[in-house]
Amino acid sequence: MPGKITNDQLIAAANEFGTPLYVYHAEKIKEQYQKLTTAFAKQDTTFFYASKALTNINILRYINEIGCNVDCSSINEVKLALHAGFPPEKVLYTSNGIDFSEIEEAVAAGVHINIDSLSNLEKFGKKFGHSYPVGIRIRPNIMAGGNIKISTGHEGSKFGIPVTQLDKIEEIVKHTNLFIRTLHIHTGSDIKDPDVFVKGIEVLFELIPHFPELEVIDLGGGFKVPYHTDEKETDVNLLAQKIKECFDNHPVAGNKKFKLWFEPGKFLVSACGFLVSKVTVLKDNGATVFAAVNTGLNHLIRPMMYDAYHHIENISNPAGEKRLYTITGNICETDTFGSDRELNEVREGDLLAFHNAGAYGFEMSSNYNARFKPAEVLVRDGKAQLIRKRDQMEDLLKNQII
Ligand SMILES: *Cc1c(COP(=O)(O)O)cnc(C)c1O
Repeated sequence: MPGKITNDQLIAAANEFGTPLYVYHAEKIKEQYQKLTTAFAKQDTTFFYASKALTNINILRYINEIGCNVDCSSINEVKLALHAGFPPEKVLYTSNGIDFSEIEEAVAAGVHINIDSLSNLEKFGKKFGHSYPVGIRIRPNIMAGGNIKISTGHEGSKFGIPVTQLDKIEEIVKHTNLFIRTLHIHTGSDIKDPDVFVKGIEVLFELIPHFPELEVIDLGGGFKVPYHTDEKETDVNLLAQKIKECFDNHPVAGNKKFKLWFEPGKFLVSACGFLVSKVTVLKDNGATVFAAVNTGLNHLIRPMMYDAYHHIENISNPAGEKRLYTITGNICETDTFGSDRELNEVREGDLLAFHNAGAYGFEMSSNYNARFKPAEVLVRDGKAQLIRKRDQMEDLLKNQII
């Protein structure tokens, strides 16, 4: 069945490569990508995978192979993308608060660039004038996303140039003769409601008359994925339909045939990934039993950082009787993965799989507590391939002067 990795495959990978282990399923990424391309088939739409979700070079190569473009959050991500084989015209650098020298490097590499401050816009104009088309990241002043830590388009957000500063943008564009090709917004993550995108479009459409050379409307990423088993992902078919209506009904956009860009991160790689851990210790507290695993917030920080929910499954004992467990990590501070979760009976040595660990899982991992970062495995065509070795002692010492 496409898009599904079996528990037996996870167990086999854990047995072969050890735990904790990140396991990704290639065909699931493709399935998610195809959902998007199918939904938006009626409009000229390009998807740039927001690589900050997961930058393993093998994942980047796979994303390139299936025909998706890539969006980067740092010049190093740009370099990784080029290293993975993306041609520059398939790479986008959406900058945020960065030194102008990184933008110069991005220009030298020939990639698309979205600029997010008046200061860098002015420097860009002075240096490159009309010679290098560029995008502007607009802060639309709308609230969106699963929670405040992952909202980026509201009035208090550091991201983008506030739409209220349009006069300042125009002044810079005019006196440096900038070629503004793209207007970009990215309002947050975990956005379920398609109308949030519609609101964003409305803000950008207001700006169209001010930028006569505009070719691209870039709506960023942020599609919701189901973390809870009873949640639904963003209905991309409905979203595509609503967006198409926005474009068709708009007097200018309707005629001008803008290109539409998106930058999905989570939507492409969240559900493809599992963090497989081993139960090290059980502690019966009466009301609940603590199941400690051989990983922690150092390897999957989302529960502690964003109060994120990750479904946890005992893949070693699927027929075991259900009872409540609090699943905790092995880090020397509170790191709870889930409280009072109903799991099939957990025994020491069992393997617990954390679902939806592909996006912002390994990528946000660290060596806190001097623990090794996990290995990563890619399952493709039913075959498990190691795509990153587990850290070793040398890795902890690598850059230290000893
Ligand atoms: C993080 C980010 C994305 C991806 O967000 P998801 O919620 O993972 O889809 C897209 N664009 C920009 C500019 C981002 O910073």
